[in-house]
Amino acid sequence: MPTTFVFCGGKAGSREHVLPQWLRRQAPEKFVKAGGTRTIRTKQGEYRQIAELFATATVKCVCSTCNNVWMSGVEQKVQPFLYHVMRGQPMTLGPDEHTALATWAMKTSMMMVQSSMLDDLTVIPRADYLQLHRHGQPSMRRTTARALYVEPPGNEHQHEWGTFHASRIGGKTNGYSIILRTGALAMQFTSLRLAAGYETARYGENGQQLRLWPPTEAFSWPPPIPTSIDELASMHPARVWAKKRKA
Ligand SMILES: [Zn+2]
Repeated sequence: MPTTFVFCGGKAGSREHVLPQWLRRQAPEKFVKAGGTRTIRTKQGEYRQIAELFATATVKCVCSTCNNVWMSGVEQKVQPFLYHVMRGQPMTLGPDEHTALATWAMKTSMMMVQSSMLDDLTVIPRADYLQLHRHGQPSMRRTTARALYVEPPGNEHQHEWGTFHASRIGGKTNGYSIILRTGALAMQFTSLRLAAGYETARYGENGQQLRLWPPTEAFSWPPPIPTSIDELASMHPARVWAKKRKA
């Protein structure tokens, strides 16, 4: 575990919840009390399931100022609607909600990396932590995100509401991709540092995916076409996320 925090370089003296405690209070009681698991990647790169109740994981990698001030603000902005979105309940999400969701997903993904990807704590580069700390939102230039609707797990006793995938992207589209799923909401991020002659291909909108970042016009949640778990797992970054710049 890191001893100084990646955002400000301050002393990591504060425990941050990976998934927030307020989410645990909103979720059905039966669900939060059922035994759950979380998958971590060990320092040796092996996947291991550890027993853990929903939204109880913490990671000690933040200073108390970051935790109590701006990170807490990120939580407050999604608190009124995140749980409804996670349940797939119909609502309209405008640019303010897009920003709140994308920022929350980025912060949460960083905490997921710090708590669960012990062999690769730097999969998200430091520049992106600094960006979030300084500007309070992901980069509009190199980061794109979309929201997908994954049919709810159904069985609320199964702790499968917080899944996370992160991978590095190499070659001309150097960067990383992340899929964070909480309930019926999956958010897919890419952050790219592109070679000359390439540019980020922004996610479009269709019946299956909604452009979340950079923010755009209001959309109705959920999209009409759901995404299966298999589809989500098979989404490959490079084909979609970078393109040759037009001469
Ligand atoms: Zn700090």
